[in-house]
Order: sequence, then structure tokens, then C-alpha cells
Amino acid sequence: MKITKIEAVTIEVPMKKPFRVAYGTTSVARNIIVYAYGENGMTGIGGTAGPVKVTGDTLESIKYVINEVLAPAIVGSDSTDMEKITAVMDSVIVKNTAAKAAVDMALYDLTAKSAGIPLYKLLGGYKKTLETDYTLGIDEPEIMAYEAMELKDKGFKTLKVKVGENTVKDIERIKNIRKAVGYNIKIRIDANQGWKTKEAIRTIKALEEYDIELVEQPVPFWDIDGLAKVTRSVDVPIMADEACHTPQDALMLIKREAVDLINIKLPKCGGIFRALQIAHIAASAGMECMIGCMVETRASILPAVHLACGVKNITRADLDSAMYLKEDPVIGGATVENAMFTLGDEPGTGVKTVSI
Ligand SMILES: [Mg+2]
Repeated sequence: MKITKIEAVTIEVPMKKPFRVAYGTTSVARNIIVYAYGENGMTGIGGTAGPVKVTGDTLESIKYVINEVLAPAIVGSDSTDMEKITAVMDSVIVKNTAAKAAVDMALYDLTAKSAGIPLYKLLGGYKKTLETDYTLGIDEPEIMAYEAMELKDKGFKTLKVKVGENTVKDIERIKNIRKAVGYNIKIRIDANQGWKTKEAIRTIKALEEYDIELVEQPVPFWDIDGLAKVTRSVDVPIMADEACHTPQDALMLIKREAVDLINIKLPKCGGIFRALQIAHIAASAGMECMIGCMVETRASILPAVHLACGVKNITRADLDSAMYLKEDPVIGGATVENAMFTLGDEPGTGVKTVSI
């Protein structure tokens, strides 16, 4: 569909409680919403957080790059030509993956809406349901254990636990949570680059008795040798997050046997087009992926749900951030019931509007 206008606006949504990870605390979700208008009167919707600590993109830079750099280069194109549009976006500005992702998902939504089909069908149509975990931010071990029990009661079968601040306390956190929820719940861990190589190996080995599904990004993003050493040294599967942004990163990590799994996030890689490339590279190596998120609204969570449903080897999802928000500004599209997104037949992502 011919694109007549692309526009990025800012939105702020208060969170139910502040969310703490190894590199900071968030209490308000500041997001960008992107509208891509088609000649047929339809509107594609996308969005992103400003993941400044992961990609360097701030909300202000994202809005500027979309409205002043990407939009002028793309308006007039056909939204189905994503190979060409991705090349144009990369030719007018390097990096800025969160801005590119927000535009990319709005264009995929516009294309699917114009075709009258759900987006996941356009992306491969592999499955209609996707189970998400729920993430526990860093807190005192007893508080995290209590929250874990509440989440188990709400129907979550997988908990993602943020650690990486202090290894002694990290072990205490997992021990308390496992004791509280029993062994029928999966626990995955995210250290957000918080450990050094040997510290990571020692800590993960100590955690093995608590039955850990996987550990995300144990060491700093740049330390690929360290990441590979951790992966070789422990039995628990290791997942790249901050170390894997682009398809080239995915290929390099696979060649160096640095990880067992990859966490794809649309703002990190630049959108659905690049995410498909990463998923296909991983699939070719027999590797599974997870789809993750920043602190985002459903305007950008749902494109990720559709992507994961389109593709076979995106087998895990960490798409819980819309549930941290006090209000849901997004009208239309799937919501989570008992930890599960179930996609319907609505065209595109199903998102109709966002109330700002
Ligand atoms: Mg992570």
C-alpha cells in the first residue's frame, strides 16, 4: 500500500510499580507510537520504548529520526516493499534501530491490514497462541518469593527473574523463589550483563540445583570470549540478549559457539524484517530464539507476538511489559489470559487506536 504519511508521537504511561534491573529503575513507560498512513485510508501502528541503555536511542532521538530522517525517505513507497524500505532506512542513517523498528512494524501492520489478514499469517502463520513469562524485577529475596507465588496463582508457568547485582544475594533470591513456587514452574534468569565470567560460571553452577531453564546475558555485551566460556562451562543453556542486536551478531555468536539461544527484540534489531533474518539464521543452526521486549505498550508488543507466532523457532516469549502499566492506552488486539496471547482473525496486529 502506498504510504502517504508517517508520524511519531510520544506517550507516557505510569507503571504499577517501579521496575529495577541491574542497570537502573523505571517508573513511567515513555514510549513512541508511530502511525503509517496508507493511500487506502488505513493506518498501520507501531511503537518502541527509548532503550537508551541497550541501543543508545533516546525517546527524543527516536522521534526526531522518524519524523525528520526516515519518514521523508520512505513516504511514497509501497509498504509491501520491506526489503527495499529497510535498505533505504539503513542508507539514510546508521544504527537507530529502535526508530527503524517502530516504522518497520507500522508498515507491516499497514500491509497486513490492507491485505485483510492477521500479521502473523503474513509472517509465516506457524501458530496462533504464544505463552509469555512474567518478569520479576530485582528486590529483596522474600519480596520476590512472595511476588512469584502471586504470579503462580495468576496462571504464569514461567517466571523470568532479574539478577546480576550481587551474586550471594542473587543465589538467595532464586533459592527463595524456588522454595515458594515449587518445581512445576519454569525459572529463567536474566543477569543483564551484571557478572564477570568466572563469577557467572560459579553462580550459575551454584544455581543448578534450583532447576534453571536458561540464563540471559550473564556477562557484558562486548565480552564474547567470556560469554563463550560461560556457555562451555555450565549445563544451563545461555542466551544472548545485549550481545545480539543484528543478524550479523547472530551469525558471529553462532560461529563462535558463544551461546545456546538468542533473545530477539524488535528495538534492538531494527524491526520485523531484521528479526526474521535473525530467526532464520538461528533456525539454520538448529537454534531456538526467544522474543523479548523493553518497557513497551501493546502497540509494539503485539507486532512481536505476531512475529513469534509466524515463526517456528521463536519458541519462548518474554512479552509481559504491557502488564506492568497502570492503564492500557491501546484499543484492539490480543491481551494476555492465563499467560497466553491468542491471536484472532483481525487484520494486521489488531490494534485499532492508541489513546494519548
Ligand atoms: Mg535481557
